[in-house]
Amino acid sequence: MNTPNWNRIVIKVGSALIAPNRDGCSSQYLLSIANFIVRCRMSGIQVVLVSSGSVAAGAHLFEQVNDSSITIKKAMASAGQQEMMATWDRLFDFSTAQVLLTHADLRNRDRYISVRDTLDTLLENDILPVVNENDTVTTDKLKVGDNDNLSAMVATATQADALIICSDIDGLYTANPHLDKSARLISDVIEINSDIYAMAGGATSDVGTGGMKTKIQAAEKATSHGIQTFIVDGFNEQSFNQLLEGNNPGTLFHPHPDPMLEPMHWLRHTTLAQGELVVADEFSIDEDLTSDVLTSNDIIDVNGDFSAGDVVMLRKQNGEKVAKVTTNYSSCLLSFVATQDDEQINRTLDDTIDPILSEKYIAKME
Ligand code: GLU
Repeated sequence: MNTPNWNRIVIKVGSALIAPNRDGCSSQYLLSIANFIVRCRMSGIQVVLVSSGSVAAGAHLFEQVNDSSITIKKAMASAGQQEMMATWDRLFDFSTAQVLLTHADLRNRDRYISVRDTLDTLLENDILPVVNENDTVTTDKLKVGDNDNLSAMVATATQADALIICSDIDGLYTANPHLDKSARLISDVIEINSDIYAMAGGATSDVGTGGMKTKIQAAEKATSHGIQTFIVDGFNEQSFNQLLEGNNPGTLFHPHPDPMLEPMHWLRHTTLAQGELVVADEFSIDEDLTSDVLTSNDIIDVNGDFSAGDVVMLRKQNGEKVAKVTTNYSSCLLSFVATQDDEQINRTLDDTIDPILSEKYIAKME
């Protein structure tokens, strides 16, 4: 038996575990998870909990219980969040802290760092952060989309060693085991590629929003930052005993051997491109990305409406994504630059203005 070599972990718990009947919260399945968190903390492992369940917990308070419109869901989340927090709080004899986040918070570098610092400070003071999406203020466009991806972003921000995603199934199967008897559990995933995504299929739970696909997206985000990621059966107490014994009770996605540095990872996996800079198909960039890889002559077209400092996608005319970059100029100015065929004007522009790309953040797409 080897106790796991973790300093810090993130555990993600979905709605199906917290409010299994959509009739308020129940501690039925949470006791073993809470026990796992307590045992981790007793072994000196810091834990961040990412918990869904506010919508499921609040649903029974509304006449429109089956209404799936965004407005009703946000109201349900708002009404249920407190009950979700209170349910967890009752299971611990240490303090918990509510942390509500949106994608807009995380894709803004300053706010991302502020979130990271707050989580670090909570952990240093032995307080258990309980993170959920701030559903009340999100719009469709800004939504992280699901707590699986949110948990990976939190794991990266907190530099966790492991991300544990509790599911209603014990891991990733070669096919949907409810439909295909020959489906078998995949214990280890070394590389997340299209074959792995193809196995994910659709959602398995009718209470939460995430299916296997969002769990794999989360694993891809986390492992590319060097964080080992587990999908385990959260309904089975044995999963947690096995984890504490250093065993893999479900699917383990192995950390990338050459993890991305944190600022690049943030740019690649957390930000949303606000527009596109289109370059020729022959355009290529070296491993060592610097801000002068792109000159005004290279830009063929500009798509979207963005401001200086925004993140945009550098892509080829054939659609291939080259890199996510931060521009020093707005779409308006770069559109003007793109229409200038005159070499002389372009040279003058490149000599007199700052580089088109900000040196700080350029992340090559795979
Ligand atoms: N924020 C949602 C809730 O608390 C959960 C979203 C999800 O399950 O992924 O109900």
